[in-house]
Formats: sequence, C-alpha cells, structure tokens
Amino acid sequence: MEVFDRAERLSREELDAVQLVRLRSAVERARRSPHYARALAGVTPDSIRTLADVRRLPLTTKQDLRDNYPYGLLTEPVDRMVRLHASSGTTGNPTVIFYTQNDVDTWAGLMARCMHMAGVRPGDRFQNMSGYGLFTGGLGFHYGSERLGCLTIPAGAGNTARQIKLITDMGVTVLHIIPSYALYFAGALEQMGIDPADKARWPVRVAMIGAEPHTEEVRRKIEEMLHLRAFNSYGLSEMNGPGVAFECPHQCGMHVWEDAFLVEIVDPETLEPVPDGEVGEIVMTTLTREGMPILRYRTRDLSRFVPGPCACGRVHRRLDRIKGRADDMIIIKGVNIYPMQIEQVLMAMPEVGENYLIVLEKEGFIDQIRVKVEIRQEHFVEDMRVLSGLQKRIQTRLRDELLVTPRVDLVQSDSLPKSQGKAQRVLDERGEG
Ligand code: ADP
Ligand code: ZN
Repeated sequence: MEVFDRAERLSREELDAVQLVRLRSAVERARRSPHYARALAGVTPDSIRTLADVRRLPLTTKQDLRDNYPYGLLTEPVDRMVRLHASSGTTGNPTVIFYTQNDVDTWAGLMARCMHMAGVRPGDRFQNMSGYGLFTGGLGFHYGSERLGCLTIPAGAGNTARQIKLITDMGVTVLHIIPSYALYFAGALEQMGIDPADKARWPVRVAMIGAEPHTEEVRRKIEEMLHLRAFNSYGLSEMNGPGVAFECPHQCGMHVWEDAFLVEIVDPETLEPVPDGEVGEIVMTTLTREGMPILRYRTRDLSRFVPGPCACGRVHRRLDRIKGRADDMIIIKGVNIYPMQIEQVLMAMPEVGENYLIVLEKEGFIDQIRVKVEIRQEHFVEDMRVLSGLQKRIQTRLRDELLVTPRVDLVQSDSLPKSQGKAQRVLDERGEG
C-alpha cells in the first residue's frame, strides 16, 4: 500500500490507542472554551477511560454553534486564530469555524492524504472548480493540492467555457467538482465539440466529487460521460471542511481518518448507538483540532459503517454513501421518502438527462409530490404517445421505489434551474401548516 501519511498504515489497536489519547486531550482543550466549560459540567479527561466513555460527553448541535456565535467555542484568544470559514447555510444561518495555524496545516495534510489515496501525485495538474470564499471546499482542496505538490488552479465555480479552456490549455489531469455540476458540465463539453475520450484534448483522469448527496448511478454517469474515475469526498465545515472521509481506489465506502475524527453512528431519535452496520446519524468529535475543538457533533447526515475490511489494507473505517440529511426526509401520505431514492430511480434510466426537481404541493389538505425530470434531447420527441409512455414508465418505477405515486412532468434538457453551488433538489410549495 502506497501511502502519503504513516497514519494510513496504523492497525486497529494502534488507531484505538491514538484515539483514546487524543480524545482525552480534546476534552482537556475543549474545557478552555466558554461553551464546553459549561456543557462538560463535571466531565474531565479522567472520566475518559475507554473509547466507549465518549458517551459521557455532551452532544453538540448546530444550534449550540449559533448560540455561541461568534467566539464561544474558542479555546484561545481570537488573535491566535489565522482563518475562519462559514458553512454554506443549506439549512439555516451560517455557522463560523476558526482555525489556528496548526489547524490549517493539519487540515492540508488530511486533504493531501485524501487526494493521494485517489491516485493523485505530485506533477498532476489540479483544477479546483469549487467555490472559494467562506465555503470550505475551495481553500480546503487548494491547500491539500499544494501540499501534495500539484500545480493548483483556483478556477472557482461557474463560467463553464472558461473552465473548459483552462482544462484543455493547461492539460489538467484532476478536477474537484460538485456532482450536480459535473453532470451539466458533460453536456457543455459535448456542445463545445470536445470528446472526453480524446485524451490529448481531455487529459483529465480523476474527479473528486462531493459536498452534496448523490447516488452511485450519478457517479457512474459522471465517470462514463467525462471518461474518468470519480471519488466521493465527504466533509463538513464543523469538522474542518472536506478531508473527513474519502474513497480509496476500491470505491466501496469512504475511509474516515480515524486518527483525526472519532465517529459514532446513533439513532437520531433515541441517540443510542445503532447496531454495527446499520444506518443512523453520524456524530463526530475532532481529535486534533486546537482552536475550536467540537465534541460529538450531530451532523444530521445519515449513513452507516461498511462492514468488513477494505481490500486496500487501510483499517480506517468506511462510511457508506450519505443517504441524505435527517432534515431532508419528506413525509407524503405517511410514507418517508428521501430525495436520493428518487435520484436513484431517475438516473438509472437512459432517457433521463442531467437534472431533476422534486416539488411538494398541497391539493386541498393532501400533500402531493411532483417530480420534474429533464429528458435528453434525442428522447424529447414530438410524438405524444412516446412521451406519455416514458412518463408512465418513470411514474411506475418511482411508485415501486417510494410506495406513493408521484406526478411526473417531463421537461426539456437544460430547462430546470441550475444552482452555482450545491443543488437544491426539493422545492416545498405547500405553504404554512
Ligand atoms: P452546509 O451544512 O451549510 O451545507 P457545509 O458546506 O459544511 O455546510 O456542508 C456540509 C454538508 O454537506 C454535510 O453535512 C453533508 O450534508 C453534505 N455533504 C458533504 N459531502 C457530501 C458527500 N460526499 N455526500 C453527501 N453529502 C455530502
Ligand atoms: Zn480502501
């Protein structure tokens, strides 16, 4: 196993030992912040004898971060901090995270480790198509790529024509791109007459995709359309940003860097740990962060540990593809639905194009779900019978998966709204009550 960092080679016993030592020092550090001085009550590093004792620590929620805005979780004076980022605020007000110089360095090391694991090497040319600014995806990947020794192109988000020109002119080999944009991007390449199979013009071989939930079907589509291998990347601002969990070449779950993060999977209702291998909410503790350690953060993200060892040899446990956020669950006619179930059905159908939108509506007192689906140009034919046949087929497959029958609208490709950052897949038009 070729590694970037020796930590990748640790055995289970070594990892457990590192985690225990670091968990105790995380508690020690956290106690210095006003928030944890209160929230930890009497819990001290000595209360942590085994890793299972993590459950003696208080949970931390996004609301705790908001209530302590801006400095209440800092363990040192603000003038010791060198960076701040804020979450994109997908589900409410942004929360702000501070980093010391050591925190920035550790994060860059974790990011470089991720990229290296995906096969990126010094000498690769890396185009970062993620938004820069307060969003962690920009600078997070940027510092990781420089640490690894790649030519780093901070292209930022948007302006597709300029992105493509940079890639072809500079001979870019590695991309960081949001999955919903990657789907759209493939269409734009086609329009510009660039064939991704032509490696002289399109030398890209690796894409790192993440920041938003997406299905295996979408990954495969991106890999085929762009002629590259796409690796799933998971992170959140509260845990630095990207660089928390990443896929290895076996692409079967994302290794969480357990020397830096302690992960629990809990039942979101009872907050009890779920049996190993079952889906629940990811709860994470920073093990190495100095400036703003966070204990047992409730991510609201749903996933599970992939059981068994990974063929790559790393024992850092793997998180399965994120099923969505607990807050994303839609309840229609008493049935629980996750947007990713809809995506999975749609993206497995060859007629379906790059984009879709789920609209929640009210009809009288009854909630309805409507799915607007972009259809590829060549299938968007004049013949009404063909189209209504396709519409029925999509509806039936969705009903089989969801157990409720959605309305289905077929629309032309490129007609649904595109977002610059993370895709907004659900539009709630049900109004109050
Ligand atoms: P916000 O919470 O405002 O979106 P962040 O930029 O911190 O702010 O986003 C982190 C969130 O993005 C995660 O909690 C998760 O919901 C989502 N996310 C990040 N990476 C992935 C991924 N690979 N798959 C699915 N969801 C992801
Ligand atoms: Zn692996």
